[in-house]
Amino acid sequence: MNGSLTKEQTLNLRKQFIGPSCTLFFKSDPVKIVSAKGQYMYDEEGHEYLDCINNVAHVGHCHPQVVAAGVEQMGQLNTNSRFLHDNIVLLAQKLVSHLPNQLCMVYFTNSGSEANDLALRLSRHHTKGTEIIALDRAYHGHVVSLIDLSTYKLDRMIDGVHTKPDFVHIAECPDTYRGKYNTASNPNDDLATLYANNVEDILDNIAKKDKQVCCFIAESMQSCGGQVIYPPGYLTKVFQSVRAAGGVCILDEVQVGFGRVGTHMWSFSTQNVVPDILTLGKPMGNGHPLSAVITTKEIAASFEGCGVEYFNTYGGNPVSCAIGLAVLDVIEKDKLLENAVKIGKLMETKLNELKEKYTLIGDVRGVGMFWGLDLVKSRATRAPATEEAAYIVSRLKEEYILFSRDGPDENVLKFKAPMCFNKDNVEHLILKLDKILAELTSNKEH
Ligand code: PMP
Repeated sequence: MNGSLTKEQTLNLRKQFIGPSCTLFFKSDPVKIVSAKGQYMYDEEGHEYLDCINNVAHVGHCHPQVVAAGVEQMGQLNTNSRFLHDNIVLLAQKLVSHLPNQLCMVYFTNSGSEANDLALRLSRHHTKGTEIIALDRAYHGHVVSLIDLSTYKLDRMIDGVHTKPDFVHIAECPDTYRGKYNTASNPNDDLATLYANNVEDILDNIAKKDKQVCCFIAESMQSCGGQVIYPPGYLTKVFQSVRAAGGVCILDEVQVGFGRVGTHMWSFSTQNVVPDILTLGKPMGNGHPLSAVITTKEIAASFEGCGVEYFNTYGGNPVSCAIGLAVLDVIEKDKLLENAVKIGKLMETKLNELKEKYTLIGDVRGVGMFWGLDLVKSRATRAPATEEAAYIVSRLKEEYILFSRDGPDENVLKFKAPMCFNKDNVEHLILKLDKILAELTSNKEH
């Protein structure tokens, strides 16, 4: 099938038949990818691209063990999850073995959106509360319940149809570089406390209105919002206040789970907290639609107590679970956490060297296989360098490196490569980044 249409034909058919709001990377000149392996993707002309975008292909594109697991199970049985099957229980057991004891009840779903939507349902049934606190700039999914609380999307909607409901409360994004409280505006303050106090204020307002909070939801590190790493202690403080008010804490690791931070399997461990509900997605199936909600016995019991059974046709099917098991196996066998630690250290050194050289780079932040470069017009004003970020992403593509940018001003270069990204890949990426940053500097001088 691959390559049977010319790129132009594919583009034309896409324009004709695919809803126009389904966007592509590199809109003005999209890439047609026909195959991929490890950290590389190949277009219809055979060009090899280094993939720094795809956190979905977590253990590497088309990993043979993952592919074999899917193919083998598909040849044997695939059915809905109402039959007893080993794969579903083995995957649940394996996931739980990687988690703190209290997170021990698993629900399988098919996308990050579905997982987060179910997490909201669980929190409502458990707390009987209605009020949701989410972070500014967050994205948690494309279904109505999640667009409701994802300002990443809500803020850009111009037709006025979908607006934030009153039961959703948006807390300041704890971005210590560009957020309301930052290292320039509050150099001597404890930023974690300032941001956590903002959540406290929201909780107070909810109580004043005689409403009950149901949950606080956030990513453990905010990816869509611009690769934001929260100040140490932030989540601890927030969790304490939310729980004291009777709410539960949901952490979304759809992007940042499964060892991306390197030092731990889950990003929340870097903040020394344990959520009441954890949601997983993207990397879990290495490209196959597989996601999950993992929670405590008590919350699972409350959900059961609602009186209605939970059924999900595809969630936990034998093929998806075979793939999920293979992904976890490969993470261990290929020592991908260790690799993320090693590559993360190298990235930190190299990116900071670039920061020394180019004032365009205002902030370098990240850990393991998760990095962001916040580009600024001036380090004094921290004004976002949006056009420069666009230029760099487009020039990197010409150099056969796939990179994306994000954040409310789209000025943050995002690195979230497959976990098999290696030292040579880093050297190559840095060389090209250096070259392009130099071009930008000389363009400015002329
Ligand atoms: N949560 C986060 C943090 C995400 O980044 C995404 C997708 N970008 C989702 C949830 C939704 O996942 P999906 O697209 O699989 O529904």
